[in-house]
Amino acid sequence: MGANTRIEWADHTFNPWLGCTRLSPACDYCYAAAWAKRTGKPELWEGERRRTSPGNWMQLRKWNLAAEAAGVRARVFCASLADVFDNQVPSRWRDDLWHWITYTPHLDWLLLTKRPQNIERFLPDTRAGLPAWGDGWPNVWFGTTAENAEEYRRRWPHVAAVPAVVRFLSAEPLLGPLGDLDLGRVGAPDWIIAGGESGPYARPMHPDWPRDLRDQCEAAGVAFLFKQWGEWLPWEPDAGPYLIAQNGRIEDRHALLPADIDNDRSWDDGLWAVGEGLSHFAFQRVGKKTAGRLLDGREHNGLPTPLRRAA
Ligand code: SF4
Repeated sequence: MGANTRIEWADHTFNPWLGCTRLSPACDYCYAAAWAKRTGKPELWEGERRRTSPGNWMQLRKWNLAAEAAGVRARVFCASLADVFDNQVPSRWRDDLWHWITYTPHLDWLLLTKRPQNIERFLPDTRAGLPAWGDGWPNVWFGTTAENAEEYRRRWPHVAAVPAVVRFLSAEPLLGPLGDLDLGRVGAPDWIIAGGESGPYARPMHPDWPRDLRDQCEAAGVAFLFKQWGEWLPWEPDAGPYLIAQNGRIEDRHALLPADIDNDRSWDDGLWAVGEGLSHFAFQRVGKKTAGRLLDGREHNGLPTPLRRAA
């Protein structure tokens, strides 16, 4: 886990600005929107964007010096409470971000977006005094989120079209199977992160969905990181009373499966399914911490090897 972030795959989280607009099912229970509401800034969602303070930006200098002194590379997740390629953001803000990326060569910048269609037009602008993008800057990784197969098909080609030292896919919250990703081909992800949803309205993740991604990654030699189950753990026969969900939505948090349930029984009537075309499955709501991050009994902490190392 990172030094100042609770994100398992990064050392730091940096928000150059705050605010966003919901786009797809993965945004339904956006934790950043919930955070904005909780902290009295609801206008930041579906509305205004706000740049973070100079002091916040100055942390980058500290992180870069610390990584240099330790002789390590530190991964920075940008941004958790906004979207880097949001077209509602003034281009001057993004120019500043690109400048800071050049000032911090000991940091690997993980630019994760749900708007990959904007990446190409928002690449560093040489008219703003920035170096040309060329084959990709050595400390910038591009990623997009795909919560289901539809979003994967829609978003991934935009990431694949832009050169970068690492291109990654965040399958989180994973809300359905992604299908065959053909990971052996040119332009496929170099790294896949998978995880279930957390928070009060979290939807469960069928275990076959991350398993399938893990197996595809293993077969193709692609790095795989299993981040978390989220709120819900798949049903285990001896674990006590169960809470179940239907088609990815929580229908009744207090429903119990009959004690005599077994996997051979048809669950068509009165019992509930998750996901299309998958067998019925039951889940227990145990909370993110208890649910943990073991998939079939082990942690998966794969990280990609950048095509070219930063100096
Ligand atoms: S893109 Fe991210 S930050 Fe923006 S609304 Fe969706 S989940 Fe929230």
